[in-house]
Amino acid sequence: MLDYGATLLWFSGPPARLGSSSREASIMRLSRRKFVHSTFALAAAPLVPVGYSRADDTTVRATAGDLAARTTGGRTMSLTRGDILDLRASLRGELILAADAGYDQARRLWNAAFDRRPALIARCAGAADVVRAVQFARSHGLLTAVRGGGHSYTGESGCDDGLVIDLSGIKGLRVDPKHRTAEAQPGVRLGEFDRETQAFGLATTLGTAPDTGIAGLTLGGGFGRLDRQFGLACDNLRAVDIVTADGTLRHADQEENRDLFWGVRGGGGNFGVVTNFEYGLHPVGPTVLAGSRIFPFARAREVMTAVLDFAQTIPDEMYVFAFVARDKGGSSPELMVGYEVFYSGALGEGERLLEPLKKLGKALLDTVAPKPYVSAQQAYGDWEGPENVRSEYSKTGFMERVSTSLIDEIVRRFEAAPTIIDLVVVFREGGAFGRVKPDATAFWNRWCQYAMTLSASWAGRSQNDQNLKAAREVWSTLAPYTRNFYINVDTERGERQVRANYGDNYSRLVEIKTKYDPTNLFRLNGNIRPRTEETSPRSEG
Ligand SMILES: Cc1cc2nc3c(=O)[nH]c(=O)nc-3n(C[C@H](O)[C@H](O)[C@H](O)COP(=O)(O)OP(=O)(O)OC[C@H]3O[C@@H](n4cnc5c(N)ncnc54)[C@H](O)[C@@H]3O)c2cc1C
Repeated sequence: MLDYGATLLWFSGPPARLGSSSREASIMRLSRRKFVHSTFALAAAPLVPVGYSRADDTTVRATAGDLAARTTGGRTMSLTRGDILDLRASLRGELILAADAGYDQARRLWNAAFDRRPALIARCAGAADVVRAVQFARSHGLLTAVRGGGHSYTGESGCDDGLVIDLSGIKGLRVDPKHRTAEAQPGVRLGEFDRETQAFGLATTLGTAPDTGIAGLTLGGGFGRLDRQFGLACDNLRAVDIVTADGTLRHADQEENRDLFWGVRGGGGNFGVVTNFEYGLHPVGPTVLAGSRIFPFARAREVMTAVLDFAQTIPDEMYVFAFVARDKGGSSPELMVGYEVFYSGALGEGERLLEPLKKLGKALLDTVAPKPYVSAQQAYGDWEGPENVRSEYSKTGFMERVSTSLIDEIVRRFEAAPTIIDLVVVFREGGAFGRVKPDATAFWNRWCQYAMTLSASWAGRSQNDQNLKAAREVWSTLAPYTRNFYINVDTERGERQVRANYGDNYSRLVEIKTKYDPTNLFRLNGNIRPRTEETSPRSEG
């Protein structure tokens, strides 16, 4: 089966409902997970929670012993039975401990490379639960992860021996067609948002995989099929409600808490836990022109060159990327080349704009056709499910242009790469995304006209080390063509890289971090260290 991998996601992956041939069917099964990472292994040996069974008051009370946990700085600590009971009693949602039946499901992350075992999972039912969970974490100095849709490539929405503030059950969503806005809570997934907003003929930029969470995606930027027309997901944010590290629920928009509002648009989960997102919406569809075309890999240079030349000429309403991908279904993996297009303007005009690509002749597979916007957004289907247990690795890089030598390098390296390498994609960026000033939001890399992603995936975790080594080696030959990266998708990002990635916005982000999260409670992310921590080694928070 074609394992376009998750990576594609960002780009928007390959063809969705391709048709009836077995080849088409296999492509539809793209596994899309990719990336992953390594630093995962960083987690120190897990502590074994002692003496807790079912998390209801009765059983907890009946159980002796403290609960082993970890501080933000990595030290071991213990929470008393009284601490746990207090927290549990104060939540409207569920508190899940290791001995609970739902624990393994609740701790599971999209990227199987990370097998996190939190001490506590607070399944929040609303903002009040989030306030309580943050207060608890802060008062105990507990290592804390925040989970929206759970699709982090870096495994940072889980943690070992700490607290996971799980927002996946908070799924309120209200569309105001009159004012063209939508209010969405942090457990909402992309597909849910698209469905509700399209009921009114509206949409905004979100990613390309329907089961991704709006929360993590929006806070880190949010690329998608509409970004050349309307900017990133974060550019369409009108306001947020956010619980900052002191346990205060704040509203932030262009008038109130402006610094915070600036920071959450690209600064990720650094400043608090967002409990409500308000987006501006735009009329889109309901029918758009969208799909993918796939050609034999022998034509890789020709197809990539034609598509990326074409990409220079497209209007903002059009989105396109070129890719090389590996079909892992057969006995010998098969390589292919192709592109995806999406056009939200008049259908006839879209067909006319695509004329230049006709010179490539008939594709092996062609799904480009008028279709509902919601279907176009579901091209990669739903990746949730027990079968989705692959470890993923992904690297991204931004570029001003794509040279012939880069295309040669992609084709050559991909052909020779180990079979864990699923996909290399080059997206056309620019458009409305690029017209936002770099300092208008925290998202700095507005100069980027193209973005490249490499994805690798493999079953299980046992081969993580050797596969990461192999994937890094392939990326090392492509990385010199790029500068900076997409914080939401890159599985490996150290402090130095994060700092460079935010460019001249970094010092302002440090100020905001220092003001709202001086102890770096929210550190499991593309971390911006508060000034209080910057000069000291990363240790106890
Ligand atoms: C299959 C797949 C397809 C993807 N496609 C795209 C794409 O097309 N475009 C794109 O831009 N990105 C894409 N991504 C990357 C995506 O943006 C990130 O993985 C993002 O973090 C997912 O958000 P989440 O809420 O599901 O993640 P989670 O794992 O729940 O959270 C990730 C991080 O976000 C922060 N966070 C989450 N919720 C909150 C909150 N409410 N408040 C504060 N911080 C929070 C935390 O730091 C957390 O560690 C894709 C990822 C996957 C796995």
